Amino acid sequence: MEIRQGLMCQSCGMPFSEPEDYGTEKDGSKSQDYCFHCYQEGKFLDEGITLAGKIEKNVKFGVQMGMTEEMAQDMCRKILPALKRWKKE
Ligand SMILES: [Zn+2]
Repeated sequence: MEIRQGLMCQSCGMPFSEPEDYGTEKDGSKSQDYCFHCYQEGKFLDEGITLAGKIEKNVKFGVQMGMTEEMAQDMCRKILPALKRWKKE
């Protein structure tokens, strides 16, 4: 799978496909970095979560979407630590 930074949420790794996928800033403008599920009105919905916690959450989501636990783990561990939200830590 090709991973292209900037075209995915920089918190959870969800690819952006629709304008509605983008989160919102405090002033109501669209976030360029984060998706609607992670970021609304300038705040992370899961503020305070650790990278490990976020990976765990994403793995559960991936399994719900039909991935095997192993595939989901592998993907999340590869993608999430490289994203902007987690690089700072
Ligand atoms: Zn996200």
